[in-house]
Formats: sequence, structure tokens, C-alpha cells
Amino acid sequence: MNRIAVYSIHAFEKEFLLNANNSQFELLLIEEGLSVNTVALSKGCAGVALFTSDDASAPVIELLAKEGIRFIVTRSTGYDHIDINVAAQKNIPVAYVPGYSPNAIAEHSIALMLALSRHLIQSDKKVKQYNFTIDDLVGTNLQGKTVGIIGTGQIGAVMCKILDGFGCNILAYDIEQNGSLRYNYNVKYCSLEDIFRLSDIISLHAPLNHSTKHLLNEHSFSIMKKNIMLINTARGGLIDTKALLDALNNGTVGYFGGDVYENEKGIFFHNYSSEGISDPILLALINHRNVLLTSHHAFLTREALQSIAETTIGNIHCFVSGQSNPNQLKP
Ligand code: NAD
Repeated sequence: MNRIAVYSIHAFEKEFLLNANNSQFELLLIEEGLSVNTVALSKGCAGVALFTSDDASAPVIELLAKEGIRFIVTRSTGYDHIDINVAAQKNIPVAYVPGYSPNAIAEHSIALMLALSRHLIQSDKKVKQYNFTIDDLVGTNLQGKTVGIIGTGQIGAVMCKILDGFGCNILAYDIEQNGSLRYNYNVKYCSLEDIFRLSDIISLHAPLNHSTKHLLNEHSFSIMKKNIMLINTARGGLIDTKALLDALNNGTVGYFGGDVYENEKGIFFHNYSSEGISDPILLALINHRNVLLTSHHAFLTREALQSIAETTIGNIHCFVSGQSNPNQLKP
């Protein structure tokens, strides 16, 4: 039976993976993340199954190739943690899980938007202290606001549909336009500059790659309206976080709702409640009164976990049996 090293296994996904596997493959469940220090744990395995927090950069892939690993599957849509070019050079095919549940991530983005615009976190804190006054909880409607969506793939498209329902004016930027969004939800494609200049709310749904790294930077913040709301459930690296903190402090960004952070590796998905954390930028973000941060769990719904598990096992099956795989990534 083919053995697969499943790195960074979490309690929340075990049941789904084991059910989807149905004893087809021997799954070696490893709590440690993949890194140069843990490659050896995959000895004797046909392939590795990764999580977003794993490190499959060039040196790690070189070592996986030496261990005889024949394929990589990632239990995620994003694949910025894998050097797919080096994997291709080593003849190690890589597959991912596209669109396992775009609604899960879109709904989390909307949850951040609503929680911020209606001060739900502050309200909850006050009510728990039996303080039922509301003077400091004046919010804003989403209806009539101009929302800029950057990246109108599977998740961005669901955002357009939901925000159209709220009565928002939707602007969008993508390197490939989706005409049906224009037709169905009155989405207006425009330049990135116009998104920055005209939006009251900006929501990020593009992948992290060399062209999107720090897409939001000092310059982008300098041309935005004052007091905008920024939502990022895509990847932390899309934003220059230092520039974001400046924009929060000078009032350009009135509210920031994030599920990801550019240096989250090694911090998110771990419990530091006893020893605390030392990253000064993350600390400043967490402690900012207008920031609502969640720890990369926009994907974490039962529906999404089932879909991720089924597609991952399907990807392994394709590689093991030599069938062509529609989810195989092209370098
Ligand atoms: P997708 O591939 O369907 O859509 C991505 C869109 O971004 C595409 O339309 C693409 O053309 C566009 N794009 C690419 N480069 C761009 C650029 N330079 N500028 C603007 N647009 C660009 O992917 P998706 O399923 O919608 O997911 C989007 C991202 O969300 C993923 O790459 C992943 O990083 C992130 N994600 C986060 C979570 C989470 O739990 N927080 C879960 C799933 C996905």
C-alpha cells in the first residue's frame, strides 16, 4: 500500500481525511510542519500532503527528491508555500485544491466587514461587562458603499454576488476579467489605481506571487480616500504591513479586517498564550483598536474540510495510478 506523509496534520481535519481516504492509502499523520529539518520523516513514502504553513521551498524540495518522493499534494487553494518550478525540475508533480468552498472564505470576509462596520466585538465586550450603552457604537451601512474587489476568481466572484445583494457599488480589478460578473452583479472593472482612489471598502482575493507581493504599499495607501475599510483573507504578503500600520495611524485605513499576516508562518496555528509573541508588527496590529484579526481560518467550515479532504485523496489517487490530474499545477 502506498504510504503518504501528511505534514502539519490538525485535529480539525483528521476525521475528514480518514473518511475520504477509506483505507486506500497508508496515511502517516505528522504533527510537525515540513521543513529542511523534517523531510526525513517522509522516508519510504510515495508522496507528501502539505498544509499552507509548510515550507516546500527549493532546498526542501531538493531533499524530498533525494528521499524519493514522487509527488506533492497541498490541502489548500493557495500554493505560494511550494516552489513549483523547482518541483518541476525534479520531476515532482504538484496538485492543489481549487475552489473547495469559495463561499467559506467569502462569508468569512463578509463577517469581518460586518463585525467592523457595526462594532460587534466592542459591543460584545461591553454587554459581557453589563454595559448596555451604545453611544460609541455608531456604525455605517454597507448599502450604497463602493467596494473594490481585487481578484475576481472563485472567491472574488462570490464576494461580488453577496455584496450586490447588500446594494453595494462594486468595482473590480483582475488580470483576467469575468464578463458574467458585469452582467449578473453590475460589477465595473477598472484599473488598480481607480480601485484605490474610489473605494470605501477594499477586499483582497488574489493569489500571492511575484506580481502581487506588497500590492498594497505606501503608494497605494497614499492615493486612497480617508477612513476606508480594508479586508484581506487572501495572503498576508499582498500587503506591506508596516505601510498598513502607518495608514491605520494616519486615518487612511479606518478599519482593517484580516485573516492572514505576511509573517504568520510559525505563529498562526500555534498556541502562544503562555509565552506571548515578540513580532513587533503583529503586536501593533493585534493591539490596534480598529483591527480585527483572525488566525487564517476563513476556510474552516465542515463543508470546506470535507471538500479539501476528498479532493486531496483524489489528487493522491491520480498521481499513484498515473492518471492525468486536472488539479496539477503548471510551473
Ligand atoms: P482563483 O484562482 O479562483 O482566483 C484568483 C484570481 O486572482 C484570478 O481571477 C486571477 O486572475 C486573479 N489574479 C491573479 N494575479 C492577479 C493580479 N496580479 N492582480 C489581480 N488579480 C490577479 O482563487 P480563489 O479560490 O478565488 O482564491 C484566491 C486566494 O485566496 C488564493 O490564492 C489563496 O491565497 C486565498 N485563500 C485564502 C483562504 C483562507 O483560509 N484565508 C482559503 C482559500 C484561499
